[in-house]
Amino acid sequence: MRSHYHLFTAYPKARRPAMERATRQRAAIRDAITAAGRPLLAEEVLDGARAAVPGLGLATVYRNLKLLLGEGALRTVQLPGENPRYEPAHHAHHHHFQCRVCERVFDVHACPGDLAALAPRGFSVEDHELTLYGRCKECRGAARRPA
Ligand SMILES: [Zn+2]
Ligand SMILES: [Zn+2]
Repeated sequence: MRSHYHLFTAYPKARRPAMERATRQRAAIRDAITAAGRPLLAEEVLDGARAAVPGLGLATVYRNLKLLLGEGALRTVQLPGENPRYEPAHHAHHHHFQCRVCERVFDVHACPGDLAALAPRGFSVEDHELTLYGRCKECRGAARRPA
């Protein structure tokens, strides 16, 4: 069984640093998302992970985000007309707030609850998404400062 041969072959020494680097990149990407505590765009993930992995590029970030999504470690937050953002998949039901000034998206740990009454008569509600829009604390503060 020729195809099994590789299973019993140790990885050549030369490949080990590359594997370690890949593991480090992945951990840094996960950590950046966890540390942010809010859904991040790929570019924001890159900003957050770069400190831990100098030389990290956007293509690598995208590749790892895809892997982590496939594994079920992450899920996407898709706001209309926006690129996908990424958050840990284990978060309980929650909602989001987007700042209209800085465009960052934050978690909202509250829910109005059962919205079934809003549905047309005879319809059954299975899920809901809710996004609040406004100004985050930082952007409100900036607006109040005299010019
Ligand atoms: Zn803001
Ligand atoms: Zn809800």
